[in-house]
Amino acid sequence: MSVPRYAYFQGRIVPYSEAKVGVMNHTLNYGTGVFGGIRGYWNPEQEQLYLFRLTDHVERVLRSSRLILAEVGLDVDELRHLTVELAQREGLRQDCYIRPLVYNTDEIIGVRLHDLHPDLAMFVVPFDKYVENDADAHVTVSSWRRLEDNSLPARGKITGAYISSAFIKTDAVRSGFDEALVLTQDGHLSEGSAENVFIVRDDVLITPPVTDNILEGITRRTVMTLAQEELGLRVLERSIDRSEIYICDEIFLTGTAAQVTAVTRVDHRPIGDGAMGPVTSQLRKLYAAIVRGRVPKYRHWNEPVYVSVPTPAV
Ligand code: PMP
Repeated sequence: MSVPRYAYFQGRIVPYSEAKVGVMNHTLNYGTGVFGGIRGYWNPEQEQLYLFRLTDHVERVLRSSRLILAEVGLDVDELRHLTVELAQREGLRQDCYIRPLVYNTDEIIGVRLHDLHPDLAMFVVPFDKYVENDADAHVTVSSWRRLEDNSLPARGKITGAYISSAFIKTDAVRSGFDEALVLTQDGHLSEGSAENVFIVRDDVLITPPVTDNILEGITRRTVMTLAQEELGLRVLERSIDRSEIYICDEIFLTGTAAQVTAVTRVDHRPIGDGAMGPVTSQLRKLYAAIVRGRVPKYRHWNEPVYVSVPTPAV
């Protein structure tokens, strides 16, 4: 992965090489940060870069910040504009990923959330696929459990929490799988290592409720809307038992990075007939068109980065 040209750091856009923290940094030592992940999609016909659901992502970053008492004094509009400005400066004409990061600048010893000095950093990198095998993924049910909300708030994108996702992902990949599904402490399906999960049973789309320790995914919400409005499917939010994973018709994962990833095998068992199912396939096509700004009905989800500057009046 190439290094960005610029970063937003200490209140301004600077060359990436100047955006550095010291080894005593509080967030580096204790994981006391929160982050976001926003995809930018290049549309070659329109020569435009579209950020997908920017407002929703920005709102979640600010909500996550509040959760760890790390408010940086920016409102939704300010953070939106800053994101677009940085993307403009970076100047990419390809798909990319934007990472806003709220971190504590303090260089001190002492684990706590209070009386710290949070700040925002942000960068943009070119980005393609996250799950390589996203049309035919083979996943396992992880032996790790999903974070319990009463131990570590599951609905915040908290940097330190991702060590759990790292354990889940590495063990899955080292055992030859593409990804893993993770269960809650009481054995219900929660999500993937960095994706929400859906199953299809008899033409009903089912996904775990927000009370099953999931991250409240923006792609999850997008897919629920599309399934109802465009495919006319019934969508249920309810707890999912482990055995339902093995007997359902289709499974897919959703996430900003993973987009809509088809799962065709779980622990060496084929799902449905072992190939991508019709609901997953239709949602993938719809999603791919919408994120690139090709569906007028959903253009409000596409934030254009590049403006055509009008020629000044003489
Ligand atoms: N769960 C976790 C743990 C994640 O990190 C992500 C990625 N942000 C998701 C789910 C999917 O969320 P979203 O669709 O908002 O990217």
